[in-house]
Amino acid sequence: MTMGKVLILAKQDKHEKPIKKKTIPEQAIKEFDQALLSATEKISVLEEKLTSTLPPEELEIYSSYRAMINDPEVIEKTKDYIKTHHCNAAFAFDQISTAFVVMLEELEDPYLRQRAGDLKMISKTVLEILQGKTTNHQVLHSPTIIVAEKIDPNQLAALDQKNILGLITTQGGITDHTAIVAKALGIPYILGIKNIIQKIRPNDFLVLDSNRGCVYQNPSKKEIDHFKTQIDLKQRQAEQALLSAQTKAYTKSGKTLEVLANVGSVEDAHQALKFGADGIGLLRTELCFLERSSFPDEAAHFEQYTQILNELPDKTYTLRLLDFGTDKKVSYLHTVGEENPALGLRALRLGFSNYDTLLKPQIRAFLRLSKNYAIKILCPMIANNQDLDQIIEAIKSEQQALNAAGEKIKKLPPIGIMVEVPNVAINPQKYIAKADFFSFGTNDLAQFLMAADRTNENVSNYLSTADQTLIQLIENFTQHAQEQKKEISICGELASNANYLSTFIKMGLHALSMPPKLIPTIKAKINSLE
Ligand code: PEP
Ligand code: MG
Repeated sequence: MTMGKVLILAKQDKHEKPIKKKTIPEQAIKEFDQALLSATEKISVLEEKLTSTLPPEELEIYSSYRAMINDPEVIEKTKDYIKTHHCNAAFAFDQISTAFVVMLEELEDPYLRQRAGDLKMISKTVLEILQGKTTNHQVLHSPTIIVAEKIDPNQLAALDQKNILGLITTQGGITDHTAIVAKALGIPYILGIKNIIQKIRPNDFLVLDSNRGCVYQNPSKKEIDHFKTQIDLKQRQAEQALLSAQTKAYTKSGKTLEVLANVGSVEDAHQALKFGADGIGLLRTELCFLERSSFPDEAAHFEQYTQILNELPDKTYTLRLLDFGTDKKVSYLHTVGEENPALGLRALRLGFSNYDTLLKPQIRAFLRLSKNYAIKILCPMIANNQDLDQIIEAIKSEQQALNAAGEKIKKLPPIGIMVEVPNVAINPQKYIAKADFFSFGTNDLAQFLMAADRTNENVSNYLSTADQTLIQLIENFTQHAQEQKKEISICGELASNANYLSTFIKMGLHALSMPPKLIPTIKAKINSLE
């Protein structure tokens, strides 16, 4: 809930259609290349601004925006157009990008159709640069609730966040990127209230209750006092939760589990420290190397993880082997266009098919780190026993090679598996003896159980109905694992669902791992349980 004066954000002018002008192709191409560079840079600046506040999975939007700007097909076609028509870059780019947008809008796949909106936004950025315009971003001089027809995630990111009290729009819905960015930034929002612009006047005073989806326009003094008391209470609870999150959480009867952080960068690790993480429960290592143009070598791995672990000293750290593939693609890994990449050559499957360049340097770096840090190695997407044997063998053989070169790695770090493939989740016995610990990747597990792509917002309703099955699988796995004293944790979204906390504690889970920001609330809830 939030309250404050309103600011009606001016409708962004529709970009002027560029006019065709005669130019020298070489010059126009140079201008075009320059505009692409500037647009890429602009996106990176916005991303940078949000790095400390947005979790890595939300920041991936910015990598996809950069990929859209640098789409080789659009670039090639634009340059061909310039050469054939001897025209200016703005005109050529507008012709080509508009054709792509139209093509996407006509596709049957609703997800791809939605990407048309992203492409429009990105093309507008490039065109503005080519036309020598900069969007006149409204300056927020004081804290305000923004009301707009529509606001795209980049516009939102470009505004001064400390002055955004809340956000209301007439267009947009709960699953679009603006909602994702607003949520991650902790901005209360309601998107998609029809006609709100017509009803609100500049300088109105609003109370926005995003939990209930209500907006109160110019409430009475008595009502304002009532809402203010609620807001103050929430604020005090959040401050108290942050304070008590700095120590381990216990239920009133003395039960506990670790509340760990999911991280993918040095900034995340810093947040993990701030929000009271008991350690790192999932380092998504692939997120550290999305921006590179070449494979990270052993030194790059070692240095990156050292920086991350040093942010949060004297804890245990679960480092996951690279899980590239699916929606985490990088330019230096040439994946064949797969029909179903989430089920394809990803994670260790990709790692073993690029062993020397991808997996080997990482394993070696992990093993060297294990001499100085309490690390555990987590293996993603294990689907059967062969997968597990293969990775354990590889880790052992790298240990031998390192020791032969004088490293003296006496003990292997614990090797665990992500339980995220149904074949593993339903057959605990087959894996419990071999692996040292288990972490439930409920995001992938839910998508495979429900046959619903986790990146497709049109089927997200299926994912939210997987909870009971997930809980049954975790409980069954835990019962078997406890007989052999092996630790079970959850590092997918389900971990931070407070409704299941007492169930998780009863099951005897070892840890829950989640985005750092959620840790104080979860710890506070544990402290309040009997
Ligand atoms: C999961 O699948 O639940 C998980 C934690 O891993 P990721 O989200 O990185 O696939
Ligand atoms: Mg996963």
